[in-house]
Amino acid sequence: MSQNILVTGGAGFIGSHTVVALAESGFNPIIIDDFSNSEPSVLAGLRNILGRDIPCYAQDCNQFSLLRSIIRDHQISGVIHFAAFKAVGESMEEPLAYYRNNLGSLITLIDAMLAEGITNLIFSSSCTVYGNPDNPPVTELTPVKPATSVYGNTKQIGEEIIRDVCAAKPLKAISLRYFNPVGAHPSAEIGELPRGIPNNLVPYVTQTAAGLRKQLTIFGGDYPTTDGTCIRDYIHVMDLAEAHVAALQFSFQQKESVYYDTFNLGSGQGNSVLELVHQFEKISKKPLPYQIGPRREGDVVAVWADVQKSKELLGWSTRRSLEEALRDAWRWQQKFG
Ligand code: UDP
Repeated sequence: MSQNILVTGGAGFIGSHTVVALAESGFNPIIIDDFSNSEPSVLAGLRNILGRDIPCYAQDCNQFSLLRSIIRDHQISGVIHFAAFKAVGESMEEPLAYYRNNLGSLITLIDAMLAEGITNLIFSSSCTVYGNPDNPPVTELTPVKPATSVYGNTKQIGEEIIRDVCAAKPLKAISLRYFNPVGAHPSAEIGELPRGIPNNLVPYVTQTAAGLRKQLTIFGGDYPTTDGTCIRDYIHVMDLAEAHVAALQFSFQQKESVYYDTFNLGSGQGNSVLELVHQFEKISKKPLPYQIGPRREGDVVAVWADVQKSKELLGWSTRRSLEEALRDAWRWQQKFG
C-alpha cells in the first residue's frame, strides 16, 4: 500500500515540485500550506499534472493539535518540511518573525511527530550554511560558517535542533542543503511565483526577457572569478524534488531507531551570472538587456556542491542540464506574458 507523506509548504516552489515527484514515485502526498507565499492556483496545476486532487490543508503548520490530527487521520509515515519564510533581506528587518516562524514551526512539527510516533523527517536546509567557502566545491564536511543573515541562521539552527533531537529521541532525519533551485515543471503547470520584484536571478531574467522588467542588474562585475561575476550551482527544481524522494526512501531504509545526516543537493557544477545570462539568451533567441551594477551586500563570491555523498548514499544525482532548467523557466514565464 502506498505511504502517506505530509508535505508542509507543499504549495511553494520546491514543495509543489516535490509533491509531483512523490506522487510519481507511488507516495500519497498531503499538503499543509498557509498560502502566505504561495498561490491556490498551484493546486490546479498539480491536478493537471497528476490527474487527481492532492489533499491540502490551508493552514499554518505551527499548530500542534492540528498536526497531530492530520498525522493520525491520514496515517502519515513521513514528513517533508518546507514551510518557512525565505527572503534574506526581509529576515534582516524582521528577525523575530523569522525565528518565530521558521524555528517555531519546526519545533511544533517535531513535537507532533514524536507524539504520534512518526520517525521520518526531511528538512529543507541551504548551502547558505557554508557562507563564503574558502575552497569550493563544498562537501558536507566543509565547516559551517557563521550565518550572514537571519534567514541563513534559521537554517543553521534548524539543522542543530534536529541533530540534537535525534541524539535523544527516536527520529530519523535528513537535512538537505539546497544550492540554487531554478526552472519549472516541463508542463509549465507549476513553477516559481515570486511576489513583486524577484530577488532571485532566474525569475528576474525571465521577467526581463518577457518585458516586465526594463533590465537585469548584475550585482558586481569585479569579483575574483573568470568573468568577474559570482558563481553558483544551479539545479533544476525537478532534480531537487526527486532528491527528496530519494532521501525519504533512504530514511525509511535505516534499521537503527535514530539517524541524522546532511546532504548537498546541487549539480556539482558552478556557473557565473554572465554564463547563465548568455545561455538564457540562446534559449530565448534574443539579447537580454543588462547592466553591471554594484555588488550586493552579503553575496557569496563562489560556491558549488561536491555531490559525491548524495550520489553514493542516496543513489541520486541530477539528470537535467542548466539549459533544460532555463528552457523550462522560460516556458513557465511565457504563460504570464
Ligand atoms: N543576481 C544578480 N542580479 C539579480 C539577482 C541575482 O546579479 O537581480 C546574482 C547574485 O548576485 C548571485 C546570483 O545572481 O550571484 C544568484 O542570486 P540569487 O539571489 O538567485 O541566489 P543566492 O544569492 O541566494 O545564491
